[in-house]
Amino acid sequence: MRIVLLISLSFSLQIVAQTARVIKFTEQLCSPEFHGRGYVNNGDSIAANYIAKTFQEIGLKALNGTYFQSFSFPVNTFPNNMEIIIGDKKLTPGVDFIVDPSSGKGKGTMDFQTLGIDELYTGNFNLLKIDNKKMFYFSNVNYKGDTIKKVKENLVKIAKYAPVIEVVNTKFTWSVSGKVYNFPFIQVQESVFNNSFQANSSVIYSIDAQIKNHTARNVIGYLPAIKKTKKTIMITAHYDHLGRMGAATYFPGANDNASGNGMLISLAEKLKTKRLKNYNLLFVAFAGEEIGLLGSMYMAANPIIDLKSVQFLLNLDIMGSGEEGITVVNATLFPEEFTRLERINKDKNYLVQIKKRGPAANSDHYFFTQAGVPAFYIYTMGPNKHYHDIYDTYYELSFSAFGNLSNLLEEFLRNFKQ
Ligand SMILES: [Zn+2]
Repeated sequence: MRIVLLISLSFSLQIVAQTARVIKFTEQLCSPEFHGRGYVNNGDSIAANYIAKTFQEIGLKALNGTYFQSFSFPVNTFPNNMEIIIGDKKLTPGVDFIVDPSSGKGKGTMDFQTLGIDELYTGNFNLLKIDNKKMFYFSNVNYKGDTIKKVKENLVKIAKYAPVIEVVNTKFTWSVSGKVYNFPFIQVQESVFNNSFQANSSVIYSIDAQIKNHTARNVIGYLPAIKKTKKTIMITAHYDHLGRMGAATYFPGANDNASGNGMLISLAEKLKTKRLKNYNLLFVAFAGEEIGLLGSMYMAANPIIDLKSVQFLLNLDIMGSGEEGITVVNATLFPEEFTRLERINKDKNYLVQIKKRGPAANSDHYFFTQAGVPAFYIYTMGPNKHYHDIYDTYYELSFSAFGNLSNLLEEFLRNFKQ
């Protein structure tokens, strides 16, 4: 029964080369008990402990007696109330509305106020005339991208004086912030109103926001080479995500980046079973990525091993699809390594495409590249477009290229030049 179950699980995920541990580990990181691996209910800390425990089970060692590296930063959080009623409609968080990551707290029953597009575009209006007893409302749709951006900037200024609702008609993309406005800033989907919104109706809202100083932990597992050496290769993936937006709503962060941690574990298992001869391996699950690459920035500035001994860094972020292959950031900086990756892929026919990209500050490789450590950042491409929204769930992951990509990366590491 157990064997049958494992086999069917493996096939359904198309990660035949993977173990039960990798499957369970990835699913677990996305579960409600991990609270979106953010800053409500200690989500990121629960994840850090779970990753360290898994590192230990696989047989990765602690460095200097610990699996952790701690650092602190301010973060705005939404632990409790997240309610909006417009007219007679109670809005669903994450579906009908999100709050800006820097939204302030507040509650009340209010009428609406607004301004014209010209004033909001130019910023030519008197902020002191904004009434803090009324909800500021603006429908920021049907404009060009540049106009929408300028209007948004002025709406943010208004959020210092009154609560704001910005109506949008694009996909919600949430984030996390270390600062907080004076008043709530809410984005509402245009579809909520069904063309029936009346500016003379009112809004009832209750948004709780709390800014706090948070201590997060990078998680580190060490695997020495067979030969004694200082030369080390780092394999990294951030485990933090956006956490909870109110008590009832969480962002699972499956593709971003439970999937990358799954790949980290998959590589750790294989490389522990048959260790590299000439390179130590340092597996790092970074914290604080979504708030601005803070975990990797901290480690690059406070390295736990001499960065000069790091021969290469492989950063994995968004590993859950792959129907359209992968993209390699920094490929143009390190053409020799890129050519080698391409050659292995051609020989073995692992992925349909390996796309080349230049440097970009879009994940945890960035500060290491700046510090002179050669690095690739790899992400998978495919039809799954759920990103920083409540739909980025474990069940949406195809793992289409997971097994083959794991094999490709393993061979890339085993063939690393001396
Ligand atoms: Zn990410």
